[in-house]
Amino acid sequence: MAVFKPENVEDFYEIGEVLGSGHFGQVRQVRERSTGIYWAGKFLKIRKNTCSRLGLVRSCVEKEVEILQAVQHPNIVTLKDVFESRAEVVLILELVSGGELFDFIAAKENLLESEAIEFMTQILEGLGFMHSKNIGHFDLKPENIMLSDKVAAQPNIKLIDFGLAHHFHQGEEYKSTSGTPQYIAPEVINSEPLSTAADMWSIAVITYILLSGLSPFQGETDEETLRNISIMNYAFPAQYFSTTSSMVKDFIQKLLVKIPSERMTAEECLLHPWIKPITRTQVANRNRSSINMKNFKKFNARRKWKMSYNMVWMCNRLVQLKLLRKGSSDPDPPQRQCESDVEDTESKPASLLRRRLSSSS
Ligand code: ATP
Repeated sequence: MAVFKPENVEDFYEIGEVLGSGHFGQVRQVRERSTGIYWAGKFLKIRKNTCSRLGLVRSCVEKEVEILQAVQHPNIVTLKDVFESRAEVVLILELVSGGELFDFIAAKENLLESEAIEFMTQILEGLGFMHSKNIGHFDLKPENIMLSDKVAAQPNIKLIDFGLAHHFHQGEEYKSTSGTPQYIAPEVINSEPLSTAADMWSIAVITYILLSGLSPFQGETDEETLRNISIMNYAFPAQYFSTTSSMVKDFIQKLLVKIPSERMTAEECLLHPWIKPITRTQVANRNRSSINMKNFKKFNARRKWKMSYNMVWMCNRLVQLKLLRKGSSDPDPPQRQCESDVEDTESKPASLLRRRLSSSS
């Protein structure tokens, strides 16, 4: 059980600039007074009483902390310390200063498929390690895949945000309908028991986007996106995949499988010929291919635009729609919110979005 220190965090750390915001608070750069070393402080507002809807339930923070302690790996952000006051918990994390992987790639002129594979390998190594400890991330998306620093030619991947992660115990059945519509697996939408295989679905979506700049299931609305996932409505349009290898399609197809146990595991992915080519033809095929940079840049620009407007949305409500729900009577455990993928606000007036934001932050 992690120690939540009752001391004032500011006695030990100088609080600096905001690095990012989540649903329950901010992440700020902090400087350790005794060493001068910079860290990232994740400030999470805690719910003061059971009737309140403001902030996070403390048990959710405990869960995030316990998982971060269990996943010490070069491709996963490290937790250093935890402070607690009456209103908030502060996680002192390794400072990941290289920004998001997708932004790093979008700033380049071109990216060979082999370079994209280097990054995918690191993501899979971090994820494989988590899965070997029976921990699922359940919120894999471009915003949560960062780079250690900006200066290295080939910086290290760091997976962040373990707010939706879950540690499976023997024989346990776990359900959750949280996540971000574009990236969630069919079993999440259908409120079925989850396993670490749900992350592998998200890996397929991320790979698909990275290579083509197209999001495989994206609809006009979140409802449409979720329906596309449920019925596995996706294709590999030739104009988006003209520069990529055929092996990547096989890699993606072996992950976008409806039955979770039939998807490749992270370990199996690392042995797939797209990641680890065996024959000379496979190597040549890979070296000739590149990602669809023009379209990827467009995708990333749209993604950043959506983030800057902070279009927050609860897909928990969406998956409760009768249309998509299979009629589970199980009460859901306390859950966090998730982000919408849709660009327009027609179905979500600004006032409603603001209310949602203020009720959680
Ligand atoms: P959400 O509500 O979206 O799940 P959250 O409240 O769980 O978010 P994080 O996703 O962990 O918060 O962090 C929010 C943002 O802060 C990230 O997108 C990232 O930009 C930044 N950030 C988080 N951790 C770090 C870190 N260790 N180093 C640098 N920046 C970070």
